[in-house]
Amino acid sequence: MPRGDGRLSQDLDPGRPGPQDACGVFGVWAPGEEVAKLTYFGLYALQHRGQEAAGIAVSDGSGVVVYKDLGLVAQVFDEPTLASLRGHLAIGHARYSTTGGSTWENAQPTIQASDSGTTIALAHNGNLVNTSELAATVASKDGSTSDTALVTAMLAGYPDLSVEEAAMRVLPMLRGAFSFVFMDEDTLYAARDVNGVRPLVLGRLERGWVVASETAALDIVGASVVREIEPGELIAVDEDGLRSQRFGVPDPKGCLFEYVYLARPDTTIVGRNVYATRVEIGRRLAREYPVEADLVIPVPESGTPAAIGYAQESCIPYGSGLVRNAYVGRTFIQPSQTIRQLGIRLKLNPLRQNVRGKRIVVVDDSIVRGNTQRAIIRMLRESGALEVHIRISSPPVKWPCFYGIDFATRAELIANGLDTDGIRRSIGADSLGYVSLAGLISATEQPKTRLCRACFDGEYPIELPSDNLIGKHVLEGVGRRVDADNERPEPGQTPGDSGSTAGARQYASPGGADALLRP
Ligand code: SF4
Repeated sequence: MPRGDGRLSQDLDPGRPGPQDACGVFGVWAPGEEVAKLTYFGLYALQHRGQEAAGIAVSDGSGVVVYKDLGLVAQVFDEPTLASLRGHLAIGHARYSTTGGSTWENAQPTIQASDSGTTIALAHNGNLVNTSELAATVASKDGSTSDTALVTAMLAGYPDLSVEEAAMRVLPMLRGAFSFVFMDEDTLYAARDVNGVRPLVLGRLERGWVVASETAALDIVGASVVREIEPGELIAVDEDGLRSQRFGVPDPKGCLFEYVYLARPDTTIVGRNVYATRVEIGRRLAREYPVEADLVIPVPESGTPAAIGYAQESCIPYGSGLVRNAYVGRTFIQPSQTIRQLGIRLKLNPLRQNVRGKRIVVVDDSIVRGNTQRAIIRMLRESGALEVHIRISSPPVKWPCFYGIDFATRAELIANGLDTDGIRRSIGADSLGYVSLAGLISATEQPKTRLCRACFDGEYPIELPSDNLIGKHVLEGVGRRVDADNERPEPGQTPGDSGSTAGARQYASPGGADALLRP
């Protein structure tokens, strides 16, 4: 069941957003097809991975054009814009910022001309951890402050090599998480870091090839799933067909949080359907934390499969107790103070007749700060629930992520300072149970050694730099130390209020910000 508005369930309180994913990427090589429209629909399917900005780059063989802006995919592109983006290959990006602030310059795809006359456009899901080291060797030319712009500049820095040859030099220099799609005038490229932290899959169209962050984005454009891009693999697609090379030794450490929360339920990761994984997590949760109750309800939408699993295993009836107001997504309208105080009520409304007089089990995917769960419990009690038992389909989140997910700061993570009973008291639940890490891992059907679990157990599979300068704004001169990392957007901040070029829809050329072409 796709999330209708692309929002995550933690993101129910407009003033306190939950963990944000670090982008969705999409690429297509398909002569004779409307590649910009295919990319648009691919990004639409990946909107849940990033809602700050969207962009598409196309090439017709003679030049690369990028169109990007702050906002949701459907806000950035309209029919005339897509019609103006003609070509036989395209890449696209839906962005949540991890390195670099939320500005137009940092929206992707990035674009840069090399000295040899080739133009390179690049889109990135993930986060590099050696950005400051790379920045010392190369400077991006377009004013952007993202690790992605640095990589684009590095790829453009080999005038005597083809882009493919340059990529084989550059990719081994990068440390951290990256799933890239990039292109020049003729060729579509895709590459994944040696740990394969973030997903990236390859699909086949009747007359072409597609790469995307999730299999759900292949489904939406009618592409069949071929396989995952392997960790440490670079592929290139052009009129000569598909070529694959290895730039590093694979050491898979896929993100465990993708299964819990980030990926769409209709996506498949390493052959395992995410929906089935979440139902199984719910079953395990019921075995690990049983309770006598009258009704199991999910926090819609991402708590739904685990709630179904909990109900199946416990034989407690499953039903709805909270109705989501699906069309309250990111808005350009600033809520007044009175409306903001409504908080979660803007997004969720209790079904009073279903919860009144009942002992309720509420299943949610994670607890970050605890504000969402606290508000839900209060709302259910006010609606007449006799007891509220919270069950969480992931272990406590205790550590920040440096590989592309923007959690709260470590100090804000409720599980960092309190034990489970302390959290239960803090949110006002009658009982609280988190699925165990072993239970979660076993539901994914992946060996523990092939998963990154760092936000749960603190074991970071990719070494972090000793200077700890890996904050979101590291290239803006305000890198944070580890414990104070992951700065949040201001409460109520919208994509349009970040300054720069807010509200302007813009094309970009390889000349950078000085060469903007307005439609
Ligand atoms: S730290 Fe957590 S969210 Fe980040 S990659 Fe690892 S498992 Fe995923």
